[in-house]
Amino acid sequence: MDYGSYFAKTLSGLKEEGNYRVFAELERERGAFPRARSHGGETEKPVTIWCSNDYLGMGQHPDVLGAMHDALDRCGAGAGGTRNISGTTHDHVLLEAELADLHGKESALLFTSGYVSNWAALGTLAGKIPNCLVLSDALNHASMIEGIRHSKAERQIWKHNDLADLETKLAQQPLDRPKLIAFESVYSMDGDIAPIADICDLADKYNAMTYLDEVHAVGLYGPRGGGIAEREGLMDRLTVIQGTLGKAFGVVGGYIAASADLCDFVRSFASGFIFTTALPPAVAAGAAASVRHLKTSQAERNAHQDRVAAVRARLDALGIPHEMNPSHIIPVMVGCPVKCKYISDILMRDFGVYIQPINYPTVPKGTERLRITPSPVHSAADIDHLVSALGQLWTQCELARLPMAAQ
Ligand SMILES: *Cc1c(COP(=O)(O)O)cnc(C)c1O
Repeated sequence: MDYGSYFAKTLSGLKEEGNYRVFAELERERGAFPRARSHGGETEKPVTIWCSNDYLGMGQHPDVLGAMHDALDRCGAGAGGTRNISGTTHDHVLLEAELADLHGKESALLFTSGYVSNWAALGTLAGKIPNCLVLSDALNHASMIEGIRHSKAERQIWKHNDLADLETKLAQQPLDRPKLIAFESVYSMDGDIAPIADICDLADKYNAMTYLDEVHAVGLYGPRGGGIAEREGLMDRLTVIQGTLGKAFGVVGGYIAASADLCDFVRSFASGFIFTTALPPAVAAGAAASVRHLKTSQAERNAHQDRVAAVRARLDALGIPHEMNPSHIIPVMVGCPVKCKYISDILMRDFGVYIQPINYPTVPKGTERLRITPSPVHSAADIDHLVSALGQLWTQCELARLPMAAQ
């Protein structure tokens, strides 16, 4: 085999389909988010980021930065080992206590990322529990899919957010067979929200465990930022709540919160927990500061929801189609990979606006989109600039508008 030409040919295929991934090389500016410098073109230039998962700007929050500086000065750079061998620091233990409290669970267990926490926790639970059947929502994140696959447990995929389909699959199984229902609260690409209470009812009826990924909800929803399950008073009904420290909490890391024994079980058997160096203490301290701040402060969550509503209203006024969902994620539907990438390129080049195109395989072909994530630190002027740029490009690309458009 000619390896070199195989790689080159596959990559040029991706480019022809418009599905080749190009990274934007940014330099975030401390205290100036959503502003950043783009190093992409011939010259460095300022851009406004409209697609960050640092949903609340907590990656710039003085409490978070202060805690990280302090821990760096106290403890130095790295943790120095795996959690098992010298890597468990006081900051890791404090953060786990903060997370267990956030979700009203006995324990929490920290991982190096949300991806790793899903992969390791699902892989271990489904792999170790004898004859476990995993019922996985069709739109679950890649990290859950990989964890379930890694477990080698039997898996059935239920139609996205479809309770009837889930119940049909549950009802076919013996009541005493171990079952794990894996799903998300806010789905990241469509921004829709799972019927968590109904899923918990089915889990009770058919004797199943529940595993909820709240990655796009922690920090953002609920009176203390515990997520959709907190907002709906359901945290105690879920077997496992999983979250990230890298999105609304603005740092990096992932975790599960559950009973003490379940966390201890995963701690004891998960290869992806045991055999990897622990997060730096400064990261754990920064994440703990962020979680702690958002437990009491509503200002960020309120401003976030205001900005989301403002952007939606402005898009509606221009008839630019976006998914009507009950969350903070605004998917503006383009429906063509080439136009989606083109709009993104021109937004960056001519308008200083950065929105990454979301193409296949992240979303199904024909549903290519621009995923806009307003934050409390986007100003009214930022919103004006964004919406007017989108309006111009919508015309230029001859994309359809909704009839409600004023023009
Ligand atoms: C981003 C994401 C993850 C992974 O979290 P990281 O901390 O970024 O690794 C897990 N689940 C969902 C639904 C995600 O969108």
